Amino acid sequence: MDFFNKVGSSISNKSKDVARKAKELAEISNLNSQINVQEDIIDKICLEIGKIVYEKRENFPDAELKEKYTAASNAHAEIARLKSKIIFVRGAKQCPNCGNEVPLTSSFCPDCGTAVPTPAPEPVIEDIVIPPDSIIYYPEEPTK
Ligand SMILES: [Zn+2]
Repeated sequence: MDFFNKVGSSISNKSKDVARKAKELAEISNLNSQINVQEDIIDKICLEIGKIVYEKRENFPDAELKEKYTAASNAHAEIARLKSKIIFVRGAKQCPNCGNEVPLTSSFCPDCGTAVPTPAPEPVIEDIVIPPDSIIYYPEEPTK
């Protein structure tokens, strides 16, 4: 009987793991597609920049180009934000120097060698059991 209960709870833990992993993969896939959208925007803007530079190459740089550069920088910043989110969803750390993903078990970035401190884990508060014979009762002070 106990054996079947253990098998049952092990299977339900595994199905929770599978469900969590599937949710994680779906979230990462969604973030990756948002990155693709931003990369398409950059490609389109770069093409437009190229055409403008070609057509107005005699008075470079101008206000129109500045606007395109700003839009492209914003898309790059959005990609960096989405990549950070993917690292967070995976439960890893991000290198403060190069921004690459660093496994929680590594103390240094595998790409640039920067020290990456591991964030302190959430404290686990366990129930404290006090054995009854360890409790010392002090007699009340006699009142005068
Ligand atoms: Zn790095």
